Amino acid sequence: MPKSMKRILTTALLSLAATGCAVSPTGEKTLLLNSSAQMNSIGSQSFEEMKKQKPIEQDAKTNKYVACIANAIVAQVPREYGYQPSQWELVVFKSDDKNAFALPGAKIGVYTGMIKLAKNHHQLASVIGHEVAHVLAQHSNARLSQQQLTQLGLATTSLILGETVDSTTRQAALNAVGLGAQYGILLPYSRRHESEADQLGQELMAKAGFDPREAAALWQEMSKQGGATPPEFLSTHPAPATRIQQLSAQADTYLPVWREAINNGRHPDCDRFKPY
Ligand SMILES: [Zn+2]
Repeated sequence: MPKSMKRILTTALLSLAATGCAVSPTGEKTLLLNSSAQMNSIGSQSFEEMKKQKPIEQDAKTNKYVACIANAIVAQVPREYGYQPSQWELVVFKSDDKNAFALPGAKIGVYTGMIKLAKNHHQLASVIGHEVAHVLAQHSNARLSQQQLTQLGLATTSLILGETVDSTTRQAALNAVGLGAQYGILLPYSRRHESEADQLGQELMAKAGFDPREAAALWQEMSKQGGATPPEFLSTHPAPATRIQQLSAQADTYLPVWREAINNGRHPDCDRFKPY
């Protein structure tokens, strides 16, 4: 690339970087170079492709169980995030992998393997809350913005400028929403993003009427599953003792939020649909 071109691109990216600074839900400064519309489009397209490639669970009881939990969670998403509860699309994928994810564009995917792992609706709520929190905090956008800054190439710039997207850029975009070269390979977020999603997710689950203490229990259950073939979710969400301790400590903060939810009639009885 000629030097002059590189300088022009650098200037363009830096000016975008200057306008793209935002503050995350927990008050961290974050760089967001892409519009919500762009991220929603990437998330929605990836979800459509996943639905074509992976078997979808048709069992009514299983679907009711997960929908009961997911609906309670998304109903508590503060309106300033720009999502309506009815916008969220939930798909239960038939797979023994212990996995779950959420994508920009209000998409939630839960694998049947994760439903089996979670001992009760509180524990599955902690997973869904955590994944929805990644979407609300725009972690995919932050991750893609980082890639764009480090790549600093024409392909990357074309995505920012909304021009034709080539395969390299498309791959970077897919990586950013957490889907690797093959769909279903979810990439890890940074430790900071994980702890932000833990915090925001635990607050969401408590507001929705789920016991926030069960978040730590879920991760304990997950880490027990380690060994030679750790769950896919664990490979993208390392659960060291410090993280479990943090979730335990935070649960005390959210217990009053949970009690208030119960007092206000938010007491989802999803376990009545529990399929396993
Ligand atoms: Zn996560």
